[in-house]
Amino acid sequence: MNTGTLEYFRERSASLNFRTEAFINGKFVPALSGETLAVHNPATGELLADVAACDAADVDMAVAAARATFARGHWSRRSPQDRVQVLHRFAQLIEDNAEDLAIAEALDSGKPISDALNVDVPESVATLRWYAQIGDKVYDQIAPTGHDVTAMIIREPIGVVGAVVPWNFPLLMAVWKIAPALAAGNSIVLKPAELTPLSALLLGELGSKAGIPDGVLNVVPGFGETAGQAIGRHDGVDCVSFTGSTEVGRMFLRYASESNLKRIHLECGGKSPCVVLDDAGDLDLVASHIASGILWNQGENCTASSRLIVDETIKDVLLEKVLAQIAKWPVGNPLDPSTKIGAMIAPDHMKKVLDYIELGKDEGAQLALAGGRTLTETGGSFVSPAVFDNVRNSMRIAREEIFGPVLAVMPFDAIEDALILANDTDFGLAASLWTRDLDKAHRISRAIRAGVVSVNCYSEGNLNTPFGGYKLSGFGGRDKSVMAFDNYTETKTIWIQHH
Ligand code: NAP
Ligand code: MG
Repeated sequence: MNTGTLEYFRERSASLNFRTEAFINGKFVPALSGETLAVHNPATGELLADVAACDAADVDMAVAAARATFARGHWSRRSPQDRVQVLHRFAQLIEDNAEDLAIAEALDSGKPISDALNVDVPESVATLRWYAQIGDKVYDQIAPTGHDVTAMIIREPIGVVGAVVPWNFPLLMAVWKIAPALAAGNSIVLKPAELTPLSALLLGELGSKAGIPDGVLNVVPGFGETAGQAIGRHDGVDCVSFTGSTEVGRMFLRYASESNLKRIHLECGGKSPCVVLDDAGDLDLVASHIASGILWNQGENCTASSRLIVDETIKDVLLEKVLAQIAKWPVGNPLDPSTKIGAMIAPDHMKKVLDYIELGKDEGAQLALAGGRTLTETGGSFVSPAVFDNVRNSMRIAREEIFGPVLAVMPFDAIEDALILANDTDFGLAASLWTRDLDKAHRISRAIRAGVVSVNCYSEGNLNTPFGGYKLSGFGGRDKSVMAFDNYTETKTIWIQHH
């Protein structure tokens, strides 16, 4: 299946039917206002679909459905063993429809079809299976007491969960939220990004086919300012799990404080350092990870390794190898299986990335690889990678999240300086470190203030490990692992006096 050709995927994409209405209470329905939003293919600029533009009234309806079904208990009080079966069926249906989902994702977000097929869709399946598996294996507790009391500490689903997700991993981010929330017994109102609603709508349909009761998984496409804000401010929403920018993350804290103090989990941006010591070992290997760290998903990745902090004695050799690796990352049509860098999500985001490249030059950083707009004739938003050398950490290209294929290289002299540079950032989502010295690996990885530190690789860990940030990168619970399951449960103490 993964060995298709560009022609094959083009043909398949022409025959795809997208769902364009909101999915509320088990049915596809237009927005109450009748409004739609235009969804474009970032690789061509062409219109893909007009999708329901939900606003507060639609969110109200979705929350009411979610609340009603939660109260009825068809999902929330169902035995975990039953829920497990449904989640496994859900995962299987995603797997059965992998190609449709991957093509929709590539068309909608501009990401390479090979990534959508080999990463986004299978990881989504794996995530659902992971939470299906723990759904009936996390035990409650009995607290130690005297014999005249039984004290039970039990988990309960929290209620109605709002999931508000970004455009860079539309399917996977949605599944990272809904899989643990469903496994814990919650009802959900999912709002995909306005730019990428297509896979989430398919998700609603497949969940329903798998046996998720009506009203448990609702999908409301719409704008952030309307549908997103309505979820944030809704008194019937008990928790919001958000992935996106720090700026909008702050808004959710405000929405919660001005409404019902709903629980908020934030996964926000990053400016992750990659620290390479002089004993890093095989520099070809290091360079290949650096290239994928900044180029994967067009650099539109919150854990993108965008600051390369390298010992000055190996900097020039490493930089040469990094440039050679980057040359192996062709920019192209996302439907071409050989493409490794697809299209930027939208023309205004492309402009933002191009403006940062200009800014880097103005700030006096040295351009080691020019980068810039490419494949203009396609009508799409393509940017080839740029690398800046001798960047100072005070420059805006070193401080601000670019969310594109732009790497800032910063040499250091002493290890302590490298650590200062690594931590001198407002963000703290991820970091990587290269050294063959065990003592340094332990000492430095503990000293870096970030939620995920990968040593001798570029990695976000796997489903068994929590994912989320320090500082402006996040707040609240973590995605993935048992911790994400905890995000979507309340803890109740039942204290029983025996007479
Ligand atoms: P964004 O603007 O923060 O959008 C994220 C979500 O919030 C979208 O669904 C968006 O809807 C919604 N939203 C926007 N304005 C809102 C408002 N006023 N009230 C309520 N909801 C609102 O971020 P983005 O542009 O989609 O994604 C890029 C950013 O997300 C980057 O900064 C990146 O670092 C971060 N990100 C973080 C992670 C992580 O795991 N930490 C993962 C991926 C991305 P619309 O689409 O309609 O605007
Ligand atoms: Mg918006």
